[in-house]
Amino acid sequence: MIRITVVNRGPRHDAAPLVPQLIDRLNHLNPRAITYRLAGDILRCDVHNAALLQEFDRDMMRYIGARQGGVDAPGGDHEIPIRVVARTREFVDAHALGTVDLVDLLDASDFSFCSNVLHILEERWQTPDYQRRRVVFNRPHREAINQEVEYLRGVLGDPTLRFIGEYDRASSVYVVAFQTDGGLRVEHVFTTRGDVATESELYVIQGRQRRTLREFVLPRAAAVPPAAAPPPAAAR
Ligand SMILES: [Zn+2]
Repeated sequence: MIRITVVNRGPRHDAAPLVPQLIDRLNHLNPRAITYRLAGDILRCDVHNAALLQEFDRDMMRYIGARQGGVDAPGGDHEIPIRVVARTREFVDAHALGTVDLVDLLDASDFSFCSNVLHILEERWQTPDYQRRRVVFNRPHREAINQEVEYLRGVLGDPTLRFIGEYDRASSVYVVAFQTDGGLRVEHVFTTRGDVATESELYVIQGRQRRTLREFVLPRAAAVPPAAAPPPAAAR
């Protein structure tokens, strides 16, 4: 069960207006299969076509505790609090506070958004008694990374993808890196602007070519020719 509550930290940090944007964002991911709504402060989902459900949708149903195949998912009485804030110094979320900065979470491509949602929910799901005690972090964080690996394997259709590390690339850039046996490198890049806003994007690096994950998996999107191609003589 996912409970979304707004933390009051003053008008500049009011996340309440962003909650409908979060629901809208979830609802445009796979709307023919599943949509989401708030019932009070509990996140619920409605499955419209089970045949179209994807891995992300099934994971969300597990966290929500939705019925699957006529039986209640085990998550029904397992509460995951999401305390929403906005424009904080927190880096997308703060595990020890139970908060999620919705400005950061929403400032991401769909793939990055889904990866972050799964990371946050799995991390809290895997923390014993998270509602009351938020002290355990390392193992839940590893499980959350594993959840991202599963998600990215599904998106890329490549079961060899594995986590290789996370590190600061610069003072304002944080990278979570993955690799496949075939030599693809996947980077989840978090860029902080000012000191309160973090945006995130997933990239695939193949040889010297760096593309967003979206460009990589949607060949038609990547194949759109440039508006004004340089004449052959100008090619390097
Ligand atoms: Zn984590």
